[in-house]
Amino acid sequence: MTGPADAIVVGSGPNGLAAALTLARAGLAVTVLEGAATPGGGCRTEELTRPGFRHDVCSAVHPLAASSPFFAGVDLAGHGVTLRQPPVAFAHPLDGGRAAVVAGSVADTAAGLGADAAAYRRLLGPLVRDIGAILPAVLAPLRDLPPHPLALARFGLPGLLPASVLARGFRTEEGQALIAGAAAHSMLPLSAPGTGAFGLVLTMTAHAVGWPVVQGGSARLTDALVAGLTALGGQVQTGHWVRSLDSLPPARAVLLDVTPRQFLGLAGERLPPRYQARLRRFRYGPGVCKVDWALSGPVPWAAAACREAGTVHVGGTLAEVARSEAEVNAGRLPERPFCLVAQPGVADPGRAPAGQHTLWGYCHVPSGSAADASALIEAQIERFAPGFRDLILARAVRTAAALERYDPNYVGGDINSGAGTLRQTLLGPVPPWSAWPPRAGPYRTALPGVYLCSASTPPGGGVHGMCGAGAAAAALADLHLPAPGQRTE
Ligand SMILES: Cc1cc2nc3c(=O)[nH]c(=O)nc-3n(C[C@H](O)[C@H](O)[C@H](O)COP(=O)(O)OP(=O)(O)OC[C@H]3O[C@@H](n4cnc5c(N)ncnc54)[C@H](O)[C@@H]3O)c2cc1C
Repeated sequence: MTGPADAIVVGSGPNGLAAALTLARAGLAVTVLEGAATPGGGCRTEELTRPGFRHDVCSAVHPLAASSPFFAGVDLAGHGVTLRQPPVAFAHPLDGGRAAVVAGSVADTAAGLGADAAAYRRLLGPLVRDIGAILPAVLAPLRDLPPHPLALARFGLPGLLPASVLARGFRTEEGQALIAGAAAHSMLPLSAPGTGAFGLVLTMTAHAVGWPVVQGGSARLTDALVAGLTALGGQVQTGHWVRSLDSLPPARAVLLDVTPRQFLGLAGERLPPRYQARLRRFRYGPGVCKVDWALSGPVPWAAAACREAGTVHVGGTLAEVARSEAEVNAGRLPERPFCLVAQPGVADPGRAPAGQHTLWGYCHVPSGSAADASALIEAQIERFAPGFRDLILARAVRTAAALERYDPNYVGGDINSGAGTLRQTLLGPVPPWSAWPPRAGPYRTALPGVYLCSASTPPGGGVHGMCGAGAAAAALADLHLPAPGQRTE
């Protein structure tokens, strides 16, 4: 390290960098220690298949960054970040060349849902209208009294439902599949309480801010955060794996962009036994098998709307998606898995040489699976886009086991760094009252001055930076420093 740091952040994912930037804005000297050779965690872009094909290694689609209060305070445009909107936010093909499509306003989308038009307007209309009140509360840790209780109740009541129940409020296969596909991002069985909220949040954001990709790739978001941090005197040191908290120099605050399992390894016997036991009970979700393709042309989806979509949910009807997620959560690899597919080239043609395309996709698999599911994913895409396989020039596969080797925060390949159960999403890894000494909020740990700031803490997975910003706010409060203003970098 070049100089003594007031604060050390271990890990440079979006949450680590959000924490670092928030602390630096408050005037602290911040050093970020990153184990990998480049910063960014789940927000990196690389030529994974062939030269000239730029693939998002992990995150690709950014409704959460686009709606995050933390990113709203970062001068993304000033740092060269452009969010590009596909004409269709997301689409969900069904057999027979049909598709459910979310694009434009609630009214636009409802108009395409036939018999479900009124049900869609009734469910989504008020939520999108009140999104400015709902999202900041959903993307922040649980508070005693939310500032807009009525708006939040309108979201929370349907959101608490299992997605499988919420989806049955629609009569058509299209309406049901649309909710199922959005909710399946949770990686939970669709019968789990609270999975409705995942579907609703993602669908609301599609109308309010779109599901954009970053021009040039997600790594540009990381570059912007690093540039903002260094402009304030902070530094990021890569190639520096932290193996123990004892190896860190003294600092006023230590923020850990790691999951509870790694925290146990880093802190060891410094943690009280009861707290260690609680951390060991933290639940991880299933893994994913991720595939990146270099294609000689655009995917020939049978349903035309899918050709304009940034994201395509591939897996058929509500019943099929529910079966796939149930199987994965029971530890089995489905024969016909639900797949999330992104086509960045629809909005950002520069990702591949002229006329050619990158394609990004994954399916959920049992935790830690070393199975290469690329053939299963390709069969599902081929089902809705005959001729797809003929376009494949090259593919890069990362199994769930390999994903954890790539970034240790993806335990067993769990891309959310923890199961998105209601309890963990609302309360964090260790509920404040369940360990001694009790702590206020989900970011403080049993060690004074040491905070967890990864996606294992509320509000959970995704590129929004709100876990990092929340943990930094807790650290600043403990240091009796005021929360910083925005955009000083
Ligand atoms: C395949 C995939 C697809 C995804 N798609 C999307 C998407 O489209 N949209 C979206 O919003 N989100 C998506 N996500 C989720 C999103 O990427 C993560 O939720 C987000 O990156 C979490 O940020 P984080 O800072 O908590 O952790 P991470 O981004 O995982 O960063 C953690 C960092 O800490 C470092 N680190 C860990 N331990 C140590 C240590 N001991 N010493 C030093 N460094 C350490 C790691 O190397 C890593 O760089 C996806 C994730 C994956 C894997």
